[in-house]
Amino acid sequence: MTIHGGQAPDPAYGAVMPPIYQTSTYAQTTPGGHKGFEYSRTHNPTRQALEKNLAHIEHGAFGLAFASGLAAMDAVMKLLKPSDEVIATDDLYGGSYRLFTKIFEPYGIHFRFVPMQSTEKVAQQITPKTKLLWVETPTNPMMNVIDITAMANLAKHHKLLLAVDNTFASPYLQQPLTMGADIVMHSATKYLAGHSDVVLGALITNDASLAERLSFIQNASGAVPGPFDSFLTLRGIKTLHVRMERHCQNAATIAQYLAHHPKIESVNWPGFDHHPNHTIAQAQMKDFGAMLSFVPKGANHQTAIALVEKLKLFTLAESLGGVESLAGHPASMTHASIPKDLREKSGVVDALIRLSVGIEDVQDLIEDLEQAIG
Ligand SMILES: *Cc1c(COP(=O)(O)O)cnc(C)c1O
Repeated sequence: MTIHGGQAPDPAYGAVMPPIYQTSTYAQTTPGGHKGFEYSRTHNPTRQALEKNLAHIEHGAFGLAFASGLAAMDAVMKLLKPSDEVIATDDLYGGSYRLFTKIFEPYGIHFRFVPMQSTEKVAQQITPKTKLLWVETPTNPMMNVIDITAMANLAKHHKLLLAVDNTFASPYLQQPLTMGADIVMHSATKYLAGHSDVVLGALITNDASLAERLSFIQNASGAVPGPFDSFLTLRGIKTLHVRMERHCQNAATIAQYLAHHPKIESVNWPGFDHHPNHTIAQAQMKDFGAMLSFVPKGANHQTAIALVEKLKLFTLAESLGGVESLAGHPASMTHASIPKDLREKSGVVDALIRLSVGIEDVQDLIEDLEQAIG
């Protein structure tokens, strides 16, 4: 699927990779007489190949590509009307929180942030105005795992839409549509494209009427990716399964190394038996992913920053999911837009360090951590 989905050899010359159709418009023989493509905001053959591929890999019928993950989320929010309510994961990607509270809250859409590991807590927050459950799992950066099937049952019972941000897991590890989600969202910038060289977003659904409304929004609002970015993402997806296997192996080794290190206080990774959501992770994920976070013993804001600055092989950077390992300090980087009290309530303390484990030689990565932890 990752290699062939949506990509037959190009009919014009047999090109094995879909060509980069770097064009904004298409010749017509007579007004309206065209080959299915009129204008590239609406349709572009390279983007279309990617959209079909995205649908395949998530076991969906319809895929839609956007200029970024946040542009994809923006399109989902535009399904809603003023006074509608959304229940979202409390431990949410910082940019998602900012989009919800700073852009859509002023338009009259109300958000409730709930620790969704508890299905009961979510159920308690549902009101007649609730229209959408927004789930992110595993969460960022605390690595909580939310039971997608339980959320889907709750959504069906109350006639709500369920959208799942599947960025951290990737479709290699979990496919939310098969567990009852209505919409899957991706920041393809991360594992799907996988090489830290493109910003792109995606939505996938099985529901034809949702797909129609979302593609109307995609065209009407216009946040589409260009043909070259679509091509890069297609190329990245071809190796998703091989990369993810290695990502997960490396992360498991590093999680164990950190857990046994005398200078490390705690490690958040869903693969541990003692992780509070380990059983759910085992049931709904093929493996435990390559994101983890940890707190060094006795660390504070300054010493955590000093540690990440000492890393040489791990690059200090925002983002995740590329072949190269990255380290970050959520409190001052990815999660700086979330108020400190709210941040700390979900465990994102000032001493927390986040790793996106890449596919390098794992021994090299451990040596790098060893010299930085000291
Ligand atoms: C990066 C990210 C986003 C936003 O995607 P962009 O492509 O940066 O717009 C949303 N959700 C999660 C979980 C992410 O990691």
